[in-house]
Amino acid sequence: MIVLITGPSGSGKTSFIGSLMESNPRLAFSVSTTTRPMREGEANGVDYDFVDQSVFDELVADDAFVEWAVVHNNCYGTRRSRLDEMAAAGQIPVLDIDVQGGVNVIDIYQDDLVSVFLFPPSWEELERRLRSRDTDTSAVIDGRLATARQEVGFAPKYRYWIVNDDLEAAVNRMKAVITAEDCRRESFLRSPLV
Ligand code: 5GP
Repeated sequence: MIVLITGPSGSGKTSFIGSLMESNPRLAFSVSTTTRPMREGEANGVDYDFVDQSVFDELVADDAFVEWAVVHNNCYGTRRSRLDEMAAAGQIPVLDIDVQGGVNVIDIYQDDLVSVFLFPPSWEELERRLRSRDTDTSAVIDGRLATARQEVGFAPKYRYWIVNDDLEAAVNRMKAVITAEDCRRESFLRSPLV
């Protein structure tokens, strides 16, 4: 099983994923590779593998990425080797990637992928959350709102929809999704009675 979570900026995805990861030790965050500069509080190899453009380009040329995309003018990619390591360790990779990458991995992994689109409760609430962050200028916020409208257009490609109206309730719904996926016949290698 691979879990893909996509949600627009302001959907509360970071807290949602953080809380989800704490709830189940089998879940392992898939650390992406990016050319974006490291932000305060981030750590290399934990939040992302931070690389420069030439290293990223080499990885692309070596076919090291399952998918990669340009998001807000920076490159982001999911390393094939990272997913293989997690699968070999019996972990469930959790991918936090944008719609462009999300749609690609949905096509690649098909039934093995548990795809989840995280919605904010309303456009008004999304705008309120973005404006309350006061780190971004009004133009940046308008850009994020426009991007969010485009991203929501891809939600029909995702298997599950979760509305993040209340963090705890939303995470509980996500835990139920994982439990249900675990109970699928296909996730058993053989009958439990053989
Ligand atoms: P941020 O720079 O704010 O951490 O992330 C910006 C966006 O890039 C988010 O929407 C996040 O989901 C997306 N992202 C992070 N890693 C990847 C990745 O490996 N591939 C793709 N396609 N998007 C990613």
